Amino acid sequence: MKTFCGRANPTTGSMEWLEEGEDYDYHQEIARSRYADMLHDKDRNVKYYQGIRAAVSRVKERGEKVVVLDIGTGTGLLSMMAASAGADFCYAIEVFKPMANAAVKIVEKNGFSDKIKVINKHSTEVTVGPDGDMQCRANILVTELFDTELIGEGALPTYEHAHKYLVQEGCEAVPHRATVYVQLVESRRMWSWKKLFPVHVEAEDGEKILVPPSEMENCPGVPSVCDIQLNQMPASDFSTLSDVVTMFSVDFSKPVKSASTYYRVQLEPVKSGKAQIVLSWWDIDMDPSGMINCTMAPYWVKPTSALQWRDHWMQCVYFLPREEPVLQGEKLYLTACRDEYSVWYNLQKAREGENKADEEEHKADVRVESPVCRCRAHLLWNRPRFGELNDQNRTRQYIKALRRVLKTDSICLCISDGSLLPVLAHYLGAKEVQYFVLFFRSLHFSLFFKANHLEDKIKIIEARPELLKPSHLEDKKISVLVGEPFFTTSLLPWHNLYFWYARTAVSTHLASNVTVLPQSASLHMMIVEFQDLWRIRSPCGTCEGFDVQTMDDMIKDSLNFRESKEAEPHPLWEYPCKSLSDPQEVLTFDFTKTVPQHCLSTEGSVKLLRKGKSHGAVLWMEYHLAADISVSTGLMKLSNEQGNCEWNPHCKQAVYFFSSVIESEILSDPTAVTYAINFDTKTGEIAMDFKL
Ligand code: SAH
Repeated sequence: MKTFCGRANPTTGSMEWLEEGEDYDYHQEIARSRYADMLHDKDRNVKYYQGIRAAVSRVKERGEKVVVLDIGTGTGLLSMMAASAGADFCYAIEVFKPMANAAVKIVEKNGFSDKIKVINKHSTEVTVGPDGDMQCRANILVTELFDTELIGEGALPTYEHAHKYLVQEGCEAVPHRATVYVQLVESRRMWSWKKLFPVHVEAEDGEKILVPPSEMENCPGVPSVCDIQLNQMPASDFSTLSDVVTMFSVDFSKPVKSASTYYRVQLEPVKSGKAQIVLSWWDIDMDPSGMINCTMAPYWVKPTSALQWRDHWMQCVYFLPREEPVLQGEKLYLTACRDEYSVWYNLQKAREGENKADEEEHKADVRVESPVCRCRAHLLWNRPRFGELNDQNRTRQYIKALRRVLKTDSICLCISDGSLLPVLAHYLGAKEVQYFVLFFRSLHFSLFFKANHLEDKIKIIEARPELLKPSHLEDKKISVLVGEPFFTTSLLPWHNLYFWYARTAVSTHLASNVTVLPQSASLHMMIVEFQDLWRIRSPCGTCEGFDVQTMDDMIKDSLNFRESKEAEPHPLWEYPCKSLSDPQEVLTFDFTKTVPQHCLSTEGSVKLLRKGKSHGAVLWMEYHLAADISVSTGLMKLSNEQGNCEWNPHCKQAVYFFSSVIESEILSDPTAVTYAINFDTKTGEIAMDFKL
């Protein structure tokens, strides 16, 4: 069987479909999976074990044989817990074939083959009966099918089906129940992930304000969940307008309905402000009494000392359809609407002197449609990109650089996806100048130009760079070529070097004295110790006494698949780390010249200056817009004593995890890490190797 895998080609900026062997998909999925992170989640594992033991005891006390159904068994962990707790038999269901195979091995290695039957099926395909997958219905239902939004991985339809066909009435469930909590907040930072704020430009002839079009102002955005490590959001970046409120809960021991529905709670703001965001998280009670509770509550709700770091479950940020000014003590209704897989929110004000009848009437119009982007900007820009465009410091750097390079007769070409640079360039230049933009992927962006009366000032060229013709440019030569650069298909920092390829493709249209902004880019690297992120790629060995090394080996094999360990993108503002080396510039890319035929490679060594564990290297790009004006997509600040890093909050950095960790101790004779980094100009990819 062949699989087609989509991957953006950084030399063409477009998606390409590559035919891959059957194994390929699996390796990617396993290598980047959250299994290791789950196995490292001590709090989760301990509580599941406690809950499972308690459920097994309750069934035994009733004098029944204990039959467990474990849906989504993964490594088989929860089934092994049940078997150890005295279950008579476990049916362990796993849809993902390589995992089901691993579960069989792990179960066997731990000596549970006679008690656990691994079934490689989706739970809805499982049959019960003398000739079925299961001999009889189960009386304990164990699952771990939750994502940060609780229901995003399909827990509800799976439970609905299991109660109908696979478990007995009155069964025990671990977890027993889940509860979703919400808190209303005002946060300019988080709101800037959904809304474009007006951009102020100091031009020669006074201040210009770039305004988002009304379609964008009133757009509800996209339905995809915004899940983040909320514990990394400093208290100064948001203001809580309400107490924490229980939004809804699901009892997993009773039949579950997955059909769309809504839940509504009354709120009274504890403070006046602008309601913009609903923060949300959940907890699960492993037993009916609620004594064994596993919570995702953030630091201001739960004392920090008790926080368990985990990446497979975080917290959710929901954006209200529009900002609502609210008063302290005022009566509000918050509605959570959900379908089978996702949740969205709406806020309504109670009307003056509202009575019961009004309230009923109110209820009729609380159901709102799932957010669908109408302005198309939310399809073009993801949330970090909105944040980046709203970053005034960054905009100021671009304005300063543009001001320096633009002349009254400049003919300007911009190559970047959904960029505001052409508008800035227009405001900063003379009126008669024509600007050309190459927006081959963002034609709908014309809305923006219309709102700012720029339709006839900025021309959108519907062509890929290599297909640009003199007629597109009215036979003029480009004197200023600009880019942020930013492309929606980029995954790793260096993929935005597509700007360089595009620049090369349009070479014949550039004036001999063309100015390119940025003039160059550089790749930077630093060795770090992660506070927590190391867990996601670190072997586990044993988990609650069960040998799961088979899983470790499987992840290792997948990571080394084709012997090409790759760097992976992570937004490091969410994952604190300490620098162990000085940041180093390792490669530079000269945009004033075309992409060379040969590879760009470098070798060197970097000294470990601080005590700590070297988990990996972080890499990022810096763009040199003009002399003395640079923007970093990675490190923003380094506090030297501790090595604490501040990262660009709008970008993902590349993380290369070392296959073994070294601990640097002696500072008088610092250990050195040697590296070899190669930028293949044919593929646009960077390969690297580190020796500790
Ligand atoms: N139970 C394990 C793994 C949890 S991850 C543990 O707690 O460590 C969830 C697993 O469930 C994944 O491996 C996924 O492939 C599987 N899965 C999700 N929904 C499923 C379904 N309806 N039927 C079978 N497997 C499912």
